[in-house]
Amino acid sequence: MSDDFSDIAESNTDYVAAFPGKDVPGLPAKKMLLLTCMDCRILPHQALGMELGDMKVLRNGGGQLNSAIESDIVVANHILDCDRILIMQHTQCGVAAATLEGVRDAIQSNTGVDASQFTPSVIDNQMEKLTRDVKTLRNNPLLKSNVVVQGAMYDVETGKVDFIDE
Ligand SMILES: [Zn+2]
Repeated sequence: MSDDFSDIAESNTDYVAAFPGKDVPGLPAKKMLLLTCMDCRILPHQALGMELGDMKVLRNGGGQLNSAIESDIVVANHILDCDRILIMQHTQCGVAAATLEGVRDAIQSNTGVDASQFTPSVIDNQMEKLTRDVKTLRNNPLLKSNVVVQGAMYDVETGKVDFIDE
């Protein structure tokens, strides 16, 4: 193992010593699935009052729906009992602040590689993207008819989750 991970390994040893999850089932007790950003200021379970075993969490840059994430959600809906789906973006999101050009420039300057063909999804307008993603999921015919899809915005300064009405 790389020395870069020695602190992590040490922390895990402590976690194992007091491991609370031995008999926790793999299906989420609260039937929840959360899609949110990879941002380090979001502790999803704490923010939403969830315990170990209560919800599934999908994360990516921006908490954005894309075809891979949408496939996971469909699977989670049918196979993993996830009937409540929350898409939660957040304030001060780096992915929403970034531009495609800025990302490409950073790659170029860090690696020397031409990144002009690299097309990660950055967010132009958070609320527009969030409402669009919620709508897309609600209209996905592969999801069960009783699925509930909700959008929300998390405030990294206060921890408040604002559920959006669209
Ligand atoms: Zn973010």
